[in-house]
Amino acid sequence: MPELPDIEYIVKKITPAVSNRIIKEVSVKQPVVIRMIIPGAVTEILPGKHIISVQRHGPFLLFRMDTLDLVIHFMLEGRISIQYDKKSMKSTCLSIILDNGIFMHFSDRRLMMKIYVTEKNSYDKIPGFDTQGIDIMSNDFTLEYFLKCMEKKSCQVRVFLLDQSVLSAIGNAYADEILYNAGINPRKKIDDLDKKDKNGLFKSIRDVMQWGICEVEKANQPVEIKVRDHMKVRGHAGKPCIACSTIIRKIAVYGFDSYYCPGCQPVPENYFIQWK
Ligand SMILES: [Zn+2]
Repeated sequence: MPELPDIEYIVKKITPAVSNRIIKEVSVKQPVVIRMIIPGAVTEILPGKHIISVQRHGPFLLFRMDTLDLVIHFMLEGRISIQYDKKSMKSTCLSIILDNGIFMHFSDRRLMMKIYVTEKNSYDKIPGFDTQGIDIMSNDFTLEYFLKCMEKKSCQVRVFLLDQSVLSAIGNAYADEILYNAGINPRKKIDDLDKKDKNGLFKSIRDVMQWGICEVEKANQPVEIKVRDHMKVRGHAGKPCIACSTIIRKIAVYGFDSYYCPGCQPVPENYFIQWK
């Protein structure tokens, strides 16, 4: 799924092509991904609309228009691509043609992505939108606030990082990279973290996300490509850690694959680990 750095990149990359443009035409190949929150058909409602800006809200991509908003949740495998000709992807669900001749294709081979058409500034019918926690890239996300978020929490630290109602928004790949950067085992419980761990974790969230944003931008790939080459543990099971040469492992944490280095992120001695 596109994570925060990927969506930041999409916003930056597509803004010059799509903002201040008028939608000419819309074609739907997979109606199952479309959620109309206002009455009418997407093919009739969107043409003629003026795209004012593109923004990220947590894991959502927002096209803000003059009278309505188009909100995208990519889920696991949703993609967006920008083309100067009709060429769509095999799994294209919805295509939008703009007045500058650009084609925006939304695709998902699993048909899990969601494309919401809603009234301007009205998001209460979009699951998970209004309940996003603090944006981890905003200035309001301070150490003090972060420490407060962890109060009275006893879950595993990786589960905590993925809770978007608290922190908006960390996905599976960057959760692994953040924990690796902080040297914290993904199964460690919040109430077992000491002050140093918590301070380090806060710093890692900001540093790793900023690093991810820079790396994705540096790769300069088309927006439909998921850039993961810079990752240090995610997807590296069986390979040696670049810092300590210990072999990176893949385990399940709360049902999700998690990658970590047993050397840099030691398992607390009193923890029982079920190896996957
Ligand atoms: Zn290591």
